[in-house]
Amino acid sequence: MNKEKGNLSIHSENIFPIIKKWLYSDQDIFIRELISNACDAITKVKRLNSLGEADLRENADFQVKVVLDTTAKTLKFIDNGIGMTEEEVKKYINQIAFSGAEDFLQTYKDKGDIDQIIGHFGLGFYSSFMVAETVEIDTLSYKQDAIAVRWRCDGKTEFEMESSNKVTRGTEITLYLGEDGEDFLKEYTVKSTIEKYCSFMPYPIHFEVADKEPEKDEDGNIIIEEAKALNDVAPLYTKQPNTCTDEEYKEFYQKTFRDFQEPLFWIHLNMDYPFNLKGILYFPKLNTEFDTMEGRIKLYNNQVFVADNIKEVIPEFLLLLKGVIDCPDLPLNVSRSFLQNDGFTRKISDYITKKVADKLNSLFKSGREGFEKFWEDISPFIKYGILKDTKFYDKVESIILYKTTKQQYVTLEEYLENYGEKTNKQIYYVSDDVQQAQYIKMLQEHDLEAVILDHNIDSAFISHMEMKKNEISFKRVDSNVTELMKDKDQAADEEVSTKETEALTKVFNKILNKEDCKIQLESLKSQEVAGMIILAEESRRMQEMMKRYS
Ligand code: ADP
Ligand code: MG
Repeated sequence: MNKEKGNLSIHSENIFPIIKKWLYSDQDIFIRELISNACDAITKVKRLNSLGEADLRENADFQVKVVLDTTAKTLKFIDNGIGMTEEEVKKYINQIAFSGAEDFLQTYKDKGDIDQIIGHFGLGFYSSFMVAETVEIDTLSYKQDAIAVRWRCDGKTEFEMESSNKVTRGTEITLYLGEDGEDFLKEYTVKSTIEKYCSFMPYPIHFEVADKEPEKDEDGNIIIEEAKALNDVAPLYTKQPNTCTDEEYKEFYQKTFRDFQEPLFWIHLNMDYPFNLKGILYFPKLNTEFDTMEGRIKLYNNQVFVADNIKEVIPEFLLLLKGVIDCPDLPLNVSRSFLQNDGFTRKISDYITKKVADKLNSLFKSGREGFEKFWEDISPFIKYGILKDTKFYDKVESIILYKTTKQQYVTLEEYLENYGEKTNKQIYYVSDDVQQAQYIKMLQEHDLEAVILDHNIDSAFISHMEMKKNEISFKRVDSNVTELMKDKDQAADEEVSTKETEALTKVFNKILNKEDCKIQLESLKSQEVAGMIILAEESRRMQEMMKRYS
């Protein structure tokens, strides 16, 4: 056979159902796609204007309008952006997967950065057919003497094109909502979807319901509501950290997460090399149990919402935080939802971990007292992070605090400095400071104190610390006594002790229904504790573990 070359062709009647049904996991993203196209159209015309290539005349109050008409069952997306000529409609709309955004970037890539352009793959527009039976475009290009165009398609493969009577620059997209799109006839659904995806888009987005009865006051006068954009066009995270005030950070937190508690502290991320990333991470105040705690990190791509809590980018232990992260360089796939999992996302994740660790270190160094104040709140995060991520452990292990039974906070190093010699590098701890109060007092008699490790993450944390630093060991107060606590004089009286040992052996044999209990009796030097049965740390941990898994 002769060698042959040719172009692959696509049958649109086959590709259409794929786009409609399979490309996007969530139906509501058509709102994101159409609004981001509208924003792109505005960015482009502004750009051309600044290059002296477009004359905006009036109509420079840039905005996107979304209008719902529940009677006509239409949803319109109106912008005063660049518009399209007949040729452009043919090129960018009629050719599926031919992106005008890419085209624009290629043309203007040498003329300064236009990193705000969102479009990429040339498929977003077609997501409108997930909800609409028919889609209409009315558009007028910014170009002098441009003729307005109307394009119409009913979701099959034919379209109609004719001239339109649109007289203002920009594009108006009308969706005739079908059965699949009935949800979007509800004001609430449209509004909350805009808020979900478009809260930080760069131009004001206004939403109105065309056929809504106007609200009236008590006297029957129509209340004219002030038109308010649904979005924040310049979210705090896009600003330079040194220009933001504490008040602004708190306000942004409360608005974004609808959490009216104050966050403990925050980290403003801002980097542009080797990748672009901006964002703010908040450490929330915890008032719930660790297990039910739920954070939320919202991921954005050029101010367009992608998803919550993407595990590839956000280290797992930081999913307990709340925050926003915007990374224009994210390797998104076509549906702008799932990330291609590559080394790049790993780098972002490492960067975030490093920033969190740096912040914790700087808080520790710059104000130990403040750090101690919110230690209780942040320690579950940190301990969880330590268990999950060695790099994080390396960076924060020296600033882990332990609350002692004297209600002070010490580092491991400080504890060992104070007591290490006396305890033979053992760290005494209590897991329940009420139940173990007696033993706490006994330690105090010997000028010792214990640390309180009573959180349900602590048993894993203790084992982890022992593994990392093998010269130390943690001992619960009732699991061991040091030589210092023993009364050597008493023990010397062998006759008494043999008698007592025998008597006790009988008692234990009886209670435990055994015949071979081995009792070792020692005398305690303590006013507080009359006697104690010691259960070795290792045996107790083993028992606890068995209980957990049985
Ligand atoms: P993408 O945005 O990835 O390029 P879309 O399918 O969303 O792909 O849109 C295809 C093209 O249609 C855009 O690149 C743009 O050239 C054009 N277009 C879509 N919507 C508008 C609009 N509102 N104003 C001007 N041009 C638009
Ligand atoms: Mg698009």
